[in-house]
Amino acid sequence: MAPTPESRAGDTAGSAGARTPGARAAGTRAAGSRRPARPRGEGQWAVGHREPLNANEQFKKDDDGLNVRRRIETIYAHTGFDSIDGNDLRGRMRWWGLYTQRKPGIDGGKTGVLEPHELDDKYFMLRVRIDGGALNVAQLRAVAEVSRTYARGTADITDRQNIQLHWVRIEDVPAIWEKLEAVGLSTTEACGDTPRVILGSPVAGIAEDEIIDGTPAIEEITRRYIGNPEFSNLPRKFKSAVSGSPLHDVVHEINDISFVGVVHPEHGPGFDLWVGGGLSTNPRLAERLGVWVPLQDVPEVWAGVIGIFRDYGYRRLRNRARLKFLMADWGPERFRQVLQDEYLHRELVDGPAPAEPDARWRDHLGVHRQKDGRYYVGAATRVGRTNADLLAKVADLAEAHGSDRIRTTVEQNLLVLDIPENRVDSLVAGLAELGLHAKPSPFRRGTMACTGIEFCKLAIVETKGRGGDLIDELERRLPDFDEPVTINLNGCPNACARIQVADIGLKGQLVMDADGNQVEGFQVHLGGALGLSAGFGRKVRGLKVTASELPDYVERLLRRYREERKDGERFAE
Ligand code: SF4
Repeated sequence: MAPTPESRAGDTAGSAGARTPGARAAGTRAAGSRRPARPRGEGQWAVGHREPLNANEQFKKDDDGLNVRRRIETIYAHTGFDSIDGNDLRGRMRWWGLYTQRKPGIDGGKTGVLEPHELDDKYFMLRVRIDGGALNVAQLRAVAEVSRTYARGTADITDRQNIQLHWVRIEDVPAIWEKLEAVGLSTTEACGDTPRVILGSPVAGIAEDEIIDGTPAIEEITRRYIGNPEFSNLPRKFKSAVSGSPLHDVVHEINDISFVGVVHPEHGPGFDLWVGGGLSTNPRLAERLGVWVPLQDVPEVWAGVIGIFRDYGYRRLRNRARLKFLMADWGPERFRQVLQDEYLHRELVDGPAPAEPDARWRDHLGVHRQKDGRYYVGAATRVGRTNADLLAKVADLAEAHGSDRIRTTVEQNLLVLDIPENRVDSLVAGLAELGLHAKPSPFRRGTMACTGIEFCKLAIVETKGRGGDLIDELERRLPDFDEPVTINLNGCPNACARIQVADIGLKGQLVMDADGNQVEGFQVHLGGALGLSAGFGRKVRGLKVTASELPDYVERLLRRYREERKDGERFAE
């Protein structure tokens, strides 16, 4: 239940306002010389700021994003792209996983210069949400079929366990929904200022070392709250994760909310609650609230935290609207107090912190025994790029080996679960024939790339092709390198491929080549990490590489690391 205005935790607008340029300027004026500027507030609903302060808030107030579905089905699918209302096209469509994609051939120099409509292709990217990364064979086949029929065979596995299709026409969207929903998949709130896909351990319920299976909580949150107007107008996106794996396999440090498996000394297995993480241009690691949450309470606590975000989140400026900014101002103690007092109306139990995993990779690749005696096989894609045929063949392979469960991972890879021991080698060989490797090189295993300029309107550089080429080059040049290393490529200053927490983070931008020409390249960030030593990579001042110099640069870096590192020292150290 939402709190009443009188019972609110207090307006942060005073403190937040003190940080605004206007308020700072007011503070420096001579006393009495002028009336102090009135803090503008941050647009928090909970303290009465209900009037939209920017165009995004306005279109959300005008009509809930979820309502666009009806217009797509009854109007736009029949009248075509050019008939779509502007606020629907670049705003509300996202509530159903649809983004306009970039017109081919527009180079990175035009990004941010051209008007959004000049960058628009008349096709869409469509994101299929895969909560917990959980797919069965029928679902994977349905995605493959939709991809083949309506998306020119495109299908990228994202680092949030989704699958993204491209080249989708508005005319085909209702038929796509019909096919996906027939097998229990959806695109509901896959994008937009909404609760996005809920990350989950890809080995939930099967791993021998599991602390607790978070699947029931993910299913219950999805059932109760996804597509529910109660949380369909948030200040910005809200990213969630639930995992009971001791490997910490859902990047809990950088979600808005994460439930991380722990064992309470008195109460047993449950979850440690983390809030307020996020990357992008102002990265911030999530903080623990210091509470232990039993499995059955996860949906209620999740609703409390997202309720705080909806009610107290900053809505004035888009670039200050993520939950991390509220957490930065409140701190975990106040956040916990508001959660308990105003949303849960009870005290939460104090709980322990999770232990640091000792594994060198968190990604579940390779062959592993399940607790029921069968096996799962994790195989690496090439920077998440797959296609309709490949996904259909994975579905066939899984089925032929007795499995009905496939999982996507936050490293853009795939797992096939429930394989009898005597079928493992055959599955591994079959996946390898498809280019999916259970024993990949560290480069294939550790390299991720965002969508980049091929389809993304914010991109400045190409990423998927470069990421794949970099893997090939490094495999050829450093065949004996066997240390874990993560190399993440972004096409712009956003952080879709998590560059700040990679060993080698590559932020796409235009750079000067040796001849003074502006070309595609990358700003280099080094030494980012997740885990107990989590931290953001250092931007190496002045270190920018052109795209063509990238393989030489990374090769030099890795050779130096191998020569100079002390025993057991990780790249980030
Ligand atoms: Fe697009 Fe930038 Fe995100 Fe890459 S990081 S997908 S270029 S917004």
